Amino acid sequence: MLRGWRGLGVIRSASPGTRFPQYTRGYAAGLPELTKDRYSHVKRGNFATLEQNHLKFFTDLLGENRVVSNPSDCQAYNVDWIRSVRGYSNCVLKPRTTQEVSEILAFCNRHRLAVCPQGGNTGLVGGSVPVFDEIIVNTGLMNKILSIDEISGVLVCEAGCVLETLDDRLAEKDLMMPLDLGAKGSCHIGGNISTNAGGLRLLRYGNLHGSVLGLEAVKADGEIMDLLSTLKKDNTGFHLKHLFIGSEGTLGLVTKIAIQCPPKPKATNVSFLGLQTFENVLETFQLARKELGEILSSFELIDALSLDIVTGHLGLKSPIQDFPFYVLVETQGSNATHDEDKMNRFLEIAMKTGTVEDGTVTNEDSKIKAIWALRESITEGLLRDGYVFKYDLSLPIKEFYGIVTEFRKRIGEDAVRICGYGHVGDGNIHLNISTKEFSQDILKRIEPFVYEHTSQLRGSVSAEHGIGFRKPKYVHYSKTEPAINLMKDIKRIMDPNGILNPYKVLPS
Ligand SMILES: Cc1cc2nc3c(=O)[nH]c(=O)nc-3n(C[C@H](O)[C@H](O)[C@H](O)COP(=O)(O)OP(=O)(O)OC[C@H]3O[C@@H](n4cnc5c(N)ncnc54)[C@H](O)[C@@H]3O)c2cc1C
Repeated sequence: MLRGWRGLGVIRSASPGTRFPQYTRGYAAGLPELTKDRYSHVKRGNFATLEQNHLKFFTDLLGENRVVSNPSDCQAYNVDWIRSVRGYSNCVLKPRTTQEVSEILAFCNRHRLAVCPQGGNTGLVGGSVPVFDEIIVNTGLMNKILSIDEISGVLVCEAGCVLETLDDRLAEKDLMMPLDLGAKGSCHIGGNISTNAGGLRLLRYGNLHGSVLGLEAVKADGEIMDLLSTLKKDNTGFHLKHLFIGSEGTLGLVTKIAIQCPPKPKATNVSFLGLQTFENVLETFQLARKELGEILSSFELIDALSLDIVTGHLGLKSPIQDFPFYVLVETQGSNATHDEDKMNRFLEIAMKTGTVEDGTVTNEDSKIKAIWALRESITEGLLRDGYVFKYDLSLPIKEFYGIVTEFRKRIGEDAVRICGYGHVGDGNIHLNISTKEFSQDILKRIEPFVYEHTSQLRGSVSAEHGIGFRKPKYVHYSKTEPAINLMKDIKRIMDPNGILNPYKVLPS
């Protein structure tokens, strides 16, 4: 039988939903090199440069407090969360209303000023900060909840609402957000939609193309697109909302969202299990699907070196002994006895057949949070190694972990750590290679091989983080030329001057 809970000790730091204060995030010493220097092959587009009369327009529109132009105050908005890229914008705008966003974009379009939309700035592919001096439009003050319909479960809110705040407000009405991620304390729903964020429970609640019912967005020329339907069914021509979901701020700035929210589960069970091999992980996943069926809400993998990050760097405590692999299995349902019975039966079979050797299971809130912290804090803890080369790949489930072993052979001791964790249930692995500092040599040994390998397996070079600044030239590994050309055509129609998030997503 499973061993019981063996005291997790005091969980320090990095609890789920940790808020990342602007600019104190990350642990690499100092600021990263400017993007224009590190990626000197990328040339600034033919955009205007910010002038005093532009600043005057913005100040007249927003007032002085909502226009940040002092270079040191702008710094926090110029650096991404993992400190991998840095722009040098001297203009951060903080609109409160859709109308203000519309006037800002119309002005920028007229004057050929490039714009970088920004939400919580937790993106992991360098899309949320300027490459050069693009004007940053930050949605932090667009944070009103407009309505929660308790009967249909539909939430309507502004784009700058923090994901965790939304979840807390919904909980008061026995509802929950259909997505959850480690950055929930900082990321905005508008950023989630613009990246089509996946997260920890996509396995159960599906992706945002399914749960977003409608949205409002402002096009590059300032035109407001009211697509804010709250209907489940609406087959009136092209489904335009999908263009804004996952287009990472290149087609418009999302200002409002209507999203379908599931009922908050009455019962949650979480088990944390130790396994010897990746084959055991796959067998356990198959068993979980069979035995837990409709209540399975998450199945996450953590390899030994990933767990070592949170126990070593962050001082969290593992509830079980050391193993090469761990999985976190969560169920969410409406009947505690039924759900516990199912979880226990699943665990009994897994232990009896030997696929799982040790583990712990709980339905207590504080212990559930403590187990989730082991998984959710990996991204943060990794930064303490130094520089992190991050890859977010969709791969056929059987080949899921092979890429980690492949890179251990290729890079070996030259890296601080090569580890893999992620969403087994979605076939999405996060391959991370950390080094003491950024190294062009290591980069060349990783790329393009990592993408070629993924493409050969018919995987995706970006499962959920997006393309951002770091991956446009690798999109062709996952998209055909006609598909890329159609994306470029759509961009030309919606943003003919290319002012919205230039240098991102689309290959040049
Ligand atoms: C600890 C941690 C864990 C994470 N876990 C996950 C995970 O499990 N799954 C996952 O998918 N991601 C994850 N991420 C990545 C990140 O949190 C998501 O991509 C998130 O959706 C970004 O939201 P944001 O508000 O921070 O957007 P930002 O980082 O500010 O922006 C991301 C992109 O969207 C654009 N954008 C932002 N707001 C708007 C808007 N209103 N309109 C138009 N464009 C906009 C930006 O220009 C940029 O291209 C994680 C990040 C961290 C730091």
